[in-house]
Amino acid sequence: MYKKSILAVGSIGIDWLELPDKKSGKTIGGSLTYFTRTAGLNSNINIVGIIGDDYPEEGKKLFDKYGNNLEDLQIVKGKSFSWGGKYHQNWEDRTTLFTELGVFENFHPKLSSKNKNSDFIYLGNIHPNLQLEVLEQINSSNNIIACDTMNLWIESTRSALDEVIQKVDILFINESEAIQISNCKDLDLSGPKILEMGPKMVIIKKGSAGCKLFSKDLNIEIGVYPIKKITDPTGAGDSFAGGVMAAIANGFHISEALLWGTASASFCVEGFGLEGFKKMNQSSLKQRIEYLKNNFI
Ligand code: AMP
Repeated sequence: MYKKSILAVGSIGIDWLELPDKKSGKTIGGSLTYFTRTAGLNSNINIVGIIGDDYPEEGKKLFDKYGNNLEDLQIVKGKSFSWGGKYHQNWEDRTTLFTELGVFENFHPKLSSKNKNSDFIYLGNIHPNLQLEVLEQINSSNNIIACDTMNLWIESTRSALDEVIQKVDILFINESEAIQISNCKDLDLSGPKILEMGPKMVIIKKGSAGCKLFSKDLNIEIGVYPIKKITDPTGAGDSFAGGVMAAIANGFHISEALLWGTASASFCVEGFGLEGFKKMNQSSLKQRIEYLKNNFI
């Protein structure tokens, strides 16, 4: 078992999901929730986030089990973050139905002195100003910083987002966001263009078509683990990032880390909300990583 530490910030809340097969409903969600569930299997996740007093017990149990240090998780009076999303018929594109910030509205991350010295840092998808607030408190110098983002921030807070991207080692971004941020439709050109913005690596997530990594020296493309049926794609990106970061923190090469990410995301999409992870444990994760190794390396 691997157990290196990662400092992670992101949203924690309640999602309302509407899927193309007409299934809909409420579930725990948030970028940090999915990240913690996958990365927490093989690393110690030090949580930076906020929840309201309405946050469900089920979510608290997840953080107790898969989180390590919850010192910087703020629990305050008020409503937790809540997001609603409706997927299009292709199961990949989605429309945001609502975003209720709740207690997130007045959130300012405050890091304990131990967390300020983290070597591995994951900035999940939240307002870039909050990602910057975390980075401003970091004291460690030889660290690896990764971040994720979304179209909302590319459209509404581009200069703060550019500042974050310029400071990180790894940028996780999906295909349409990569096109949007680089202004370039061809992914083989958009990857190198994003590298010019500052990150050492950019990992472009392509949903059911896998992912593509670009760095100065590497250009890697891998496909996905074949699942029987997609049930809900929500959180696949955060779950992927969780697998990748856990592997990196434990010293694996990025080419292997991509397999960890891909295998982790495959469990996510197999169930509604976080239900797919019921099947994810050390041995089932290892089995899927081995499958990917035999097929993509
Ligand atoms: P993913 O499918 O990997 O992009 O992640 C989905 C998660 O992102 C959901 O559980 C949402 O709660 C969360 N999310 C959606 N919009 C936002 C936002 N504006 N800020 C923070 N988290 C968000």
